Amino acid sequence: MTTQSKPVVVPVPSDEDREYWEAAKQGKLLIQKCGGCNRLRHFPTMGCPHCGTMKWTWVQASGKGTIYSWIIVHPPVLPAFQDKVPYNVILVQLEEGTRMISNMVECPNDQIKIGMPVEVVFEKVTEQITLPKFRPAKSAR
Ligand SMILES: [Zn+2]
Repeated sequence: MTTQSKPVVVPVPSDEDREYWEAAKQGKLLIQKCGGCNRLRHFPTMGCPHCGTMKWTWVQASGKGTIYSWIIVHPPVLPAFQDKVPYNVILVQLEEGTRMISNMVECPNDQIKIGMPVEVVFEKVTEQITLPKFRPAKSAR
């Protein structure tokens, strides 16, 4: 038995995010750059929510960022989540300029702070899916 438990809901790759999941398996965090307005966005979508353009390119993120916001989820929750609580959900401000939702690891929930430097780590959950998570940054920034 490992310490990593399976998430209740495992993402299923689709045409728009398959490359994202393939990259995650190789330890790379990809973000989308719009071909129309050049805005970065995460999570992958087919069209840009700002200008509607369906063209994009992938940019490899450094994986470094800071905590923009966070919450700790407590009971009551759906039965499927009962053995997970309390767990954290973080909003990370990536240094590239876009934000993403993830979970903090290698850090007690009561030590998560807004503005703290974090870096991405990759957690394999199935053969298909590796999830990017974040831990307190260890490298000098
Ligand atoms: Zn756009």
